[in-house]
Amino acid sequence: MFRYRHWHFIALIFIIILNTPGGPLSDSALGGPPRILIRDVALILTMDPNLGEGELGVIEGGDILLAGDTIAAVGKNLQGSGARIVNATGKIVMPGFVDTHNHLWQSLIRGCGTGYDTNGWLDACVFPLFDPQIAPSCAETYAGVRLSTLDLINTGVTTVVDWSHGITAEFVRGDIQALNESGLRFVFAYYGSDNPAVIDDMRLVKQTLIDPNPLATFQVASHPGMEPWFLPSLQAMSDLAKELNMKLHVHLLENITQRDDQPIEALKMVSALGPNLLCAHSIHLTDKEIAILADKDVRIAHNPLSNMRLASGIIRLPDIEQAGVQVGLGLDGGTNDTNDFFNTMRIAVGLQRAVSLQADVYPTVTDVLRMATLGGAEVLDMNDQIGSLTPGKKADLIILDPGDVNFAPRFDWISQIVFNGQPANVEWVFVDGHPLKAKDRFVGVKPAVIVQAAEKAANRIRQDLQGLDHYFGADILCGFLFSGI
Ligand SMILES: [Zn+2]
Repeated sequence: MFRYRHWHFIALIFIIILNTPGGPLSDSALGGPPRILIRDVALILTMDPNLGEGELGVIEGGDILLAGDTIAAVGKNLQGSGARIVNATGKIVMPGFVDTHNHLWQSLIRGCGTGYDTNGWLDACVFPLFDPQIAPSCAETYAGVRLSTLDLINTGVTTVVDWSHGITAEFVRGDIQALNESGLRFVFAYYGSDNPAVIDDMRLVKQTLIDPNPLATFQVASHPGMEPWFLPSLQAMSDLAKELNMKLHVHLLENITQRDDQPIEALKMVSALGPNLLCAHSIHLTDKEIAILADKDVRIAHNPLSNMRLASGIIRLPDIEQAGVQVGLGLDGGTNDTNDFFNTMRIAVGLQRAVSLQADVYPTVTDVLRMATLGGAEVLDMNDQIGSLTPGKKADLIILDPGDVNFAPRFDWISQIVFNGQPANVEWVFVDGHPLKAKDRFVGVKPAVIVQAAEKAANRIRQDLQGLDHYFGADILCGFLFSGI
């Protein structure tokens, strides 16, 4: 009896080893982290000048070895015995995109108010939803955010900053649950106020829902203005961001009418100007204001697709870059026609060419590829972890297929990423060493189920919006916010 049990135990061990991914000699069977070798890549954009040619650190022909959540090695003829092999013959590998400003719930209002500018769109599609009677529920918010996360994975975004409007406590829970389930690396920017109940909830959310997830980070969101309905909350949020040592994330001069709010003066008054301040849009800046932002090392999230769609204006990107302000790219939620990061890069380049009549104006192709990856990571102060394929950093990367009809043939692949790339070219997406998209398909999710849930939520919201006989204005929004969550 004892002998039988002994034999049975040994056989079981063999079965376990033989069934381990990577075969009997895989690292995980030997106790190391599981390894993945991305082999025979035609072109690698490492974004690390120490690893390859030029500012983008380009390597023609090479391999990338992942060990667990980390990039272990990048170079030619890497040995990965026992590693799972991903054949990347003829493919391009680069870091995943870093989306520095988005509102993921807004996929629920896609197509809403497309004929309006920023203020009209907010009045028609966003502010009415701050009424608790028609605010997105936990499940509805979850559905919208989950849909957006799939859209982001599809286009190759691996880190997203979700500026959440924090409409209700339930809204926040649905938002974060979807993010936590997505597999994406994310930053949750919670829009709060000076209401003590809101501040308590922000602390609770950070401690219980964000901190336990190693892929998640917290930010404090607010709106800058000198008016008495903005300033106390801005002060409270600036103080909270400092106490938590997290970034304060605001919309700055997106629409020309926001000049009336005196936002720079307000940010100065609450002592928020500094490297922990992230400003979305920042379109209508004066020379003096650009100099202030540069002097204080304030960061900017540039949202060119949204700025076009909402008739917001064109950011003074060459002047901002010249002054030394760090800028990342962002998709900015439902204000976009798409969540397509290739479109965002194209438009960031194209808008400046169109307005300056110069084809070599900042940002160039090289500039925008860096801005979309390492530049975004620097803006978020996450560049020690992500943004380049430097060994030791997190394994967040994408594999592009340049053989598709929209991308081939090869002339200058680096330029073609910007001018020809589409989400359909993104064949694999890895975050923290885990594939979220593999061979053009989402891993572990059924998109149809998520689309169906979002459809149901959006249908309810659309009907409620259309049932309103008037739209609320910005002053009403503040009333809702300060009434507590
Ligand atoms: Zn925004």
